[in-house]
Amino acid sequence: MDATHQVSCIVCGQEKPAEEGLFIVSQFVCLSCEAEMVETDVKDVKYPFFIHQLRKLWYRRNA
Ligand SMILES: [Zn+2]
Repeated sequence: MDATHQVSCIVCGQEKPAEEGLFIVSQFVCLSCEAEMVETDVKDVKYPFFIHQLRKLWYRRNA
């Protein structure tokens, strides 16, 4: 019914169709960011950024 529902990715901030990503703690992460997170090494400079973005989810959830 709502096939073109657009949601905002919490990592890159882009609007994507809901089916092109996944929801973590009710927040949307698009497929490209999810793939990047999976491939990101802990030593990678991007890793703290992803963790920071994900932390926002839990803070928001508890707010
Ligand atoms: Zn994204």
